[in-house]
Amino acid sequence: MLRKVLATGLLALRGLRLLRVPPLSVCKEWKRSCTLGVRSIEAGSKELSNFCHRSHTCGELRWEHVGQRVLLCGWLQYRRCDRFVILRDFHGQTQLIVPKDLVNGPGHELLHLQMESVICVRGEVRERPSGQHNHNMPTGEVEVLISSVEVLNRSRKLPFQINEAVKVNESLRLQFRYLDLRSRQLQHALRLRSNLVMSMRTFLCSQGFVDVETPTLFKKTPGGAKEFVVPSREPGKFFSLPQSPQQFKQLLMVGGLDRYFQIARCYRDEGSKPDRQPEFSQVDIELSFTSQQAVRDLVEELLCRSWPCDLPPLAQPFCTLTYDQALNLYGTDKPDTRFGMQLVDVTDEVGNTLLMSEHDSCRPRQPDCVRAICVPRGAELFCNEDFCTLKGLAKEYFNQDIIVVRLDGNDGETTSEWLSSGEHQALMEKCGAGPMDAILLAAGERFDMCLLLGKLRLECVQLLEQKGLSLRPYGLFKFLWVVDFPLFLPRKDDPTLLESAHHPFTAPHPDDAHLIYTQPQKARSQHYDLVLNGSEVGGGSVRIHNSQLQRHVLEKVLQEDIQQLSHLLAALDSGAPPHAGIALGLDRLVALLVGAHSIRDVIAFPKSFRGHDLMSNAPDWLSPEELAPYHINLCFPET
Ligand code: ASP
Repeated sequence: MLRKVLATGLLALRGLRLLRVPPLSVCKEWKRSCTLGVRSIEAGSKELSNFCHRSHTCGELRWEHVGQRVLLCGWLQYRRCDRFVILRDFHGQTQLIVPKDLVNGPGHELLHLQMESVICVRGEVRERPSGQHNHNMPTGEVEVLISSVEVLNRSRKLPFQINEAVKVNESLRLQFRYLDLRSRQLQHALRLRSNLVMSMRTFLCSQGFVDVETPTLFKKTPGGAKEFVVPSREPGKFFSLPQSPQQFKQLLMVGGLDRYFQIARCYRDEGSKPDRQPEFSQVDIELSFTSQQAVRDLVEELLCRSWPCDLPPLAQPFCTLTYDQALNLYGTDKPDTRFGMQLVDVTDEVGNTLLMSEHDSCRPRQPDCVRAICVPRGAELFCNEDFCTLKGLAKEYFNQDIIVVRLDGNDGETTSEWLSSGEHQALMEKCGAGPMDAILLAAGERFDMCLLLGKLRLECVQLLEQKGLSLRPYGLFKFLWVVDFPLFLPRKDDPTLLESAHHPFTAPHPDDAHLIYTQPQKARSQHYDLVLNGSEVGGGSVRIHNSQLQRHVLEKVLQEDIQQLSHLLAALDSGAPPHAGIALGLDRLVALLVGAHSIRDVIAFPKSFRGHDLMSNAPDWLSPEELAPYHINLCFPET
């Protein structure tokens, strides 16, 4: 049994859902001049040709270079009319022209080479003949008349064309990731990511933060996400890969480092969750002698300073909602505030009537819980099938019926049958609804109704966008802080027990500190989440720095084995400063910045949906001889 468990743990790697590639329209070259006055992190054209053979990049030549002799290196992109060749690197494309006298000599090979072969050409820049300028190409005024060609490497026939990467199926692109990396989308995402990280480092270092690397081989952390295990040479002993450097960053504070950051690699064996990766990166930050507000100010400043300058600048301060407000207004703890359609409490307007109405299944168990959302132009744009989809979702996920009030008089549930005209008017006014809008109503327990309408709100916006409304255009970035979360939540596997809403090191809200010893389930926390366009991009907290309180939370509230954390408890007992921190999910942040639908579009070598590396076929088998030093014997159930 034990051996089976070990084998399962060792081989466990799971993955993700299918990805979509960002639209080409967002793949503009990302430029940024550092606002700190420290230095520019954008390489100029001169720097791009330092330390290598080329005189210019393939994206650089313009009219003013006409007459110059140049040396270009790159990949063969395509050829036409047996004389023209397009050479590509990751700065652009240049048209080469093979002169007639070379066509039967060195040019001959160039005209027959497989696409994606790598070449180096010398030649002279000349203006394209009039009428042949290509205004869609930055180098389209000129071409290079080749005088010599060197083939640096011949490509074999490739499984897909680089230009067409967008249309190719994802597994094939992951299998040949080194080819997919040549696509404009991935080049753009990885270069933007590099610039973003560089600006963040520059800013944090300018504020006295110290970049410290923390270990990857560590031990199991109680609670939280599932961790990967790594066998050791000691029989029965294992390392765990950390789900985050949480303990280390707190221990660094105890060690007096007082301002820490790291672009940290984190590992979570969470199975095939959409848009998650088993390994991912966080911008991890911790500081001493600080407050929740100070950490939030720091993060806002960090983001503003590293924000790509071709995107609209961020407005500070970011908005803040409490967890309760977020739930009441948007039905989720990560609201997308790019569009309205907020949830409205219409209990006073229609609650009593609903109780008396024929809508049995919508009858609120408590009369004070009728919620609504108004879908602008819903009655005009949604067809019956759309309303059926929304009703179906409510039934499927929440086993709940909803009422649709179409303000085109076609609601089929003729509202006047159960609402007086006064109530109808009051409902419209409360929801801010007008002619041709639609109102969705749900009655029941507050928390469930909010979650239900929160889900339908997102579904509605998607439907409206399918009908041509643009409610979440690329380039609109809405950051939001969510605060005052509950400190503990009932455990999903056993609701009589509690688990941490964030992690067990989070301090209680100062006003609720006393509740930890009496009614911990009622305590709010000093945990804060940063949300961008409906995605959680960061989370952190003020930490418990008192060992007795930490011991009580672990042992009494969470019923964890405190032996696993005895080192941390001992550290808190040895002069731990008050401290707080946060981690930003780098992959998700970059994905939102470039308009990618999946974090796999912004990671150089991501794992597949099932957590596999399709290029190298990892995880892979090890032989019994290779496993022996780790005291592992594989045994499989007989089939
Ligand atoms: N370690 C936490 C996480 O990974 C972040 C934090 O509390 O700083 O979510």
